[in-house]
Amino acid sequence: MSLEARHVLEFPGGYTRTTGPVIGRFLTELRDGRVVGVRTAAGRTLVPPLEYDPDTGDAVTGEFVEVGPAGTVESWSWVRTPRKGHPLDRPFAWALIRLDGADTALVHAVDAGDAKAMRPGLRVRPRWRAERTGHITDIESFVPEVTRIVSPVRAEYVVKPGLALARFLEGIARGTFIGCRCGSCHKVYVPYRMSCPECGVVITEEVELPDTGTITTFAINNLPDPRAPEVPFVSAYILLDGSDIPMIALVGGVAAHEVRQGMRVRAAWVPEEEWTTSMANIKWFAPTGEPDAEL
Ligand SMILES: [Zn+2]
Repeated sequence: MSLEARHVLEFPGGYTRTTGPVIGRFLTELRDGRVVGVRTAAGRTLVPPLEYDPDTGDAVTGEFVEVGPAGTVESWSWVRTPRKGHPLDRPFAWALIRLDGADTALVHAVDAGDAKAMRPGLRVRPRWRAERTGHITDIESFVPEVTRIVSPVRAEYVVKPGLALARFLEGIARGTFIGCRCGSCHKVYVPYRMSCPECGVVITEEVELPDTGTITTFAINNLPDPRAPEVPFVSAYILLDGSDIPMIALVGGVAAHEVRQGMRVRAAWVPEEEWTTSMANIKWFAPTGEPDAEL
């Protein structure tokens, strides 16, 4: 059996003591939102100030100089589970911080969010309490300086298709490629268009094309794209069977380095219940496994 008795030493009303002129000046400045150090006879600046130079034991000069408020972390200890009475209720670091202009470091909390954010040389600055009373806790904690920002970039826009593109997308909405044939030169274009770019004549004949084709040329992309399966991914010009002009599309279902000119591919459609009137119905084109085509 073990016996224990818990003792608490506490001054419920607070234990009042005088600070002396040096510490008193430091705390008064804190109350006013400034940090000061005191000069030693040797010319060093002690922060927090002491009444005696720890090197020589001589009284300090009584000359106060403002320091910081930013400073540099020299070392730290990470507190994973803060306790009652700690300055923060979330994990933080107890750190030795040397404020700019000081020759000694003070101990204070750094609200870094994550232990991985702590490193020697980390630049920090104080986060002051709104209500200050002349106490070291007038600085709630130190926080890392902002050294970089992440700027979100996003563009969202609506494309209104013209008549020809609308006609093409109507086909895509039911799983088919709609092209057209020029009545003059007999070239077949896909997507559907209303005039021939070579002859300039109005096109009236609509043709449905299969969803198979041949890669005529391609590019391997190493920058991520929200539509692409992974990085690197391949975008390619694909000549649909029966058409005379290739269209651009993603290639998937094959390693990027295996894609080649002449490769036979077929559209990989998303499940039919997910079809809309957009090119999102086609995930990409995937190899059919047929022998390569002559270009
Ligand atoms: Zn034509």
